[in-house]
Amino acid sequence: MFRLMLSRLWCCTCNPVQCKGVVRNFSSSIPLSRQRLVILGTGWGSYSVLKHIDKKLFDVIVVSPRNHFLFTPLLCSTTVGTLEFRSIIEPVRNTGFRDEHHFQLAEAIKLCPEQREITCRSTLNEEEIKFQYDKLVIGVGAVSNTFGVPGVYENAFFLKEIADARKIRNQILKNFELAMQPGIDEDEKKRLLHFVIVGGGPTGVEFGAELYDFVKQDVARLYAHEKENVRVTLIEAQHILPSFDEKLRQFAERKMRQRNQFKLLQSSVTEVHKDGVTLKDGTRMPCSMVVWSTGLAPRDFTASLNLPKNKSQQLVVDGYLKIKGQEDYGIFALGDCSFVESHPYPCTAQVAERQGQYLAKSLTLYATGRQSEVQEFSWINLGMLAYVGGYQGLADFPTGKLQGFKSWIVWRSVYLTKLGSWRGRFQVPFDWARTFFFGRDISQF
Ligand SMILES: Cc1cc2nc3c(=O)[nH]c(=O)nc-3n(C[C@H](O)[C@H](O)[C@H](O)COP(=O)(O)OP(=O)(O)OC[C@H]3O[C@@H](n4cnc5c(N)ncnc54)[C@H](O)[C@@H]3O)c2cc1C
Repeated sequence: MFRLMLSRLWCCTCNPVQCKGVVRNFSSSIPLSRQRLVILGTGWGSYSVLKHIDKKLFDVIVVSPRNHFLFTPLLCSTTVGTLEFRSIIEPVRNTGFRDEHHFQLAEAIKLCPEQREITCRSTLNEEEIKFQYDKLVIGVGAVSNTFGVPGVYENAFFLKEIADARKIRNQILKNFELAMQPGIDEDEKKRLLHFVIVGGGPTGVEFGAELYDFVKQDVARLYAHEKENVRVTLIEAQHILPSFDEKLRQFAERKMRQRNQFKLLQSSVTEVHKDGVTLKDGTRMPCSMVVWSTGLAPRDFTASLNLPKNKSQQLVVDGYLKIKGQEDYGIFALGDCSFVESHPYPCTAQVAERQGQYLAKSLTLYATGRQSEVQEFSWINLGMLAYVGGYQGLADFPTGKLQGFKSWIVWRSVYLTKLGSWRGRFQVPFDWARTFFFGRDISQF
């Protein structure tokens, strides 16, 4: 069945002209033939294009190794069970495709701009699938940067996807259960209950905040005799939350330093081992788990492309999000894998989502012959939010700064309204209420 589906797609891609759909019964501004738009990825940028694109104008084909959109700002909350995994994801098929074969669980591996052809590999059976396109949107995001530190890939945990959060949650629970075993010596118990976070950006800080709440609210109840042995160390070479306002940063630092079992360490990690980390001064710090969150690096696919890139290996695009110098090939890039040369924007969900909306609108204008109306992409920062644990948050808006409990309320309210679907808006407060009244679910599976 799947082979039949692939062969149908293959046969469609062999002759793009032949398989362009014909649009009937539309106003004169709509062209007679539908263009084929291939979107790579189902993250903030790509999903935003998919939601906003006019599917009457395009045959939209989405290729991604992930069949859901992930609401990353709440990912840290799933690592300890404050939220459940399924509450913050949205299946992409819910967006409504013209044809159910137009979503493929695969990853792009090769691009031929001259032939307007993209080769992908199925994540189900490794088969290669080729697509021809009129327009291509690359929104494949990025991976965590290890800076070449030995042992990171082998021994550390990353926090980018739902699968990562699930691994972290299981490991935390496993460590607690290991520490409960009879005959375990004190040093080993301390190591098992020592968690290290490398990187003081929003992800590192928010993961630390969730761990803090877990220890305070659930470990104290469920592992009462061992709660004093739990330690969390956040290692950052510079300052935590560098993109936030100075006063808010200081507030976050103060809050963290006030917490007995939490340590903020200004240093860097030179090696990650199975049972600990080595710091730059040579100190060996025993721990059971390292969560690595230190900036971004390109995906293999992005790095392999023979297209203009900056020194961080992001694809360089012009103000219209077209790949620089490749105007004739109909390739656009957005989000973390791209770099707008005229205005370097931060790598955030906010930017990627807005770029997706922009592209959906400008692709409509191109397709309807109104290219003269297309304006360059511009972005206004709406502000940043972060959670620091203990019902304390930070809100850094262009119009003002807020910290503490009020800011935590803002943090929750904003993310609730930003969740992509009504299902999520219903599910997330339900999870929050469940955690508040009954505690986190520590079942391992
Ligand atoms: C834990 C965490 C918390 C965050 N919190 C915030 C926040 O509070 N506010 C904020 O603004 N930003 C936040 N961010 C950053 C934000 O999530 C990213 O900037 C954003 O996801 C970038 O969007 P994107 O579309 O470029 O990439 P992603 O959202 O990473 O999506 C990339 C997509 O491409 C797919 N893909 C990968 N390789 C291929 C391939 N070869 N072919 C096809 N598809 C591929 C992936 O499966 C995925 O679907 C957070 C990030 C993390 C990890």
